[in-house]
Amino acid sequence: MLFMACGVRSYTMRKAFKYRIYPNVNQKRELEIMLETHRRLYNECLGQRKDAYETSQKSIKYTEQSAWFKAERSSNGYYAQLNFSSAQATMRRLQRSFENFFRRVKSGEKPGYPRFKGYGRFTSWTYPAVGDGCRLFDSGKLRLQNIGMVKVKLHRPWQGEIKTLSIKQEADHWYVIASCDVGDAPEPRAEQTTVAIDVGIEHFLSTDDGQHVSNPTYLKQSLKKLRVTGRSVSRKKKGGSNRRKAVHQLQKVHRKVANQRRDFHHKEASKLVQRYAYIAAESLNIKSMVRNSRLSRSISDAGWNQFLGILRSKAEEAGSVFVDVDPKHTSQDCSECGARVHKKLSVRWHKCPNCGLKLQRDVNAARNILAKARYEPLKHNVRHQA
Ligand SMILES: [Zn+2]
Repeated sequence: MLFMACGVRSYTMRKAFKYRIYPNVNQKRELEIMLETHRRLYNECLGQRKDAYETSQKSIKYTEQSAWFKAERSSNGYYAQLNFSSAQATMRRLQRSFENFFRRVKSGEKPGYPRFKGYGRFTSWTYPAVGDGCRLFDSGKLRLQNIGMVKVKLHRPWQGEIKTLSIKQEADHWYVIASCDVGDAPEPRAEQTTVAIDVGIEHFLSTDDGQHVSNPTYLKQSLKKLRVTGRSVSRKKKGGSNRRKAVHQLQKVHRKVANQRRDFHHKEASKLVQRYAYIAAESLNIKSMVRNSRLSRSISDAGWNQFLGILRSKAEEAGSVFVDVDPKHTSQDCSECGARVHKKLSVRWHKCPNCGLKLQRDVNAARNILAKARYEPLKHNVRHQA
């Protein structure tokens, strides 16, 4: 299997470490104000871009907004409290969402115009330069400009060199996320162990050799609780205190589900990486799937993109090769003879009228993914030296 070592060059890897922080009552209030100020800055800059576009079809650049913000700080007390680099990071975030928007327009898609972030829809901000406004100490402290020293629970040490720090709110908990440069990727592994996986609805994932991993039952139970709590919110009167309580409850369930799912993803990804030196998967375009199907709920629930992201980074850390391929026709084509056998999502078995192959649909897809990975890996799999 010559394909294994081809095209793999060394590059530096980034890894994120997330820790819960424990602000005191005053610090919590300050954090909330800071998050709210970042949200307002984001929305104000979005408004400027929108106005300029609607009145004169002009687009405002990041550099112009950064200069505007610098002047605005002298008269706006809230903006004055923001660390300048972190404010720039928020404005760059807006810039990126516009770049994505225009890229998609250019490629013929019809994306929605970047949207204002409502209260509760903006949950984090970033310090892009180490030591500028924010510093994390391995003694379990976080120093934040204008807020002070905040307690951190370092449940595991971070690796490598911290490049950026982000502060994130999830329901009533606060976190710091350290994005670290962890050095060069390891040498590729020598073993010739290969797997292709297909992520699906019936099973969480299936492999080309016919193994299945199901969604864990505790996750199913939590998702049920999520639906019940969601209904309870919609029954309460808008603006009332009961509704606010129910929303808070809902956020807590959301957080629990997200944590459980991430743990599950980490465990399953670790198992695969321990066993295989070469892993092929489909490159997912969840958006088009969600749009086209009534199964949208279970598709987004499975969080496949998150899983594949975790799998990719674990594979890279371990020196395994991770290849993703264009998923087009992988579930339709026969993995034995190549005949196209059209079937709806609800049809769970691949039965080939041409060669007689009978296979669970996801296993058939996984075999096609492996074949594609060998012969037509996507261009973006070839990483360049950093
Ligand atoms: Zn066939």
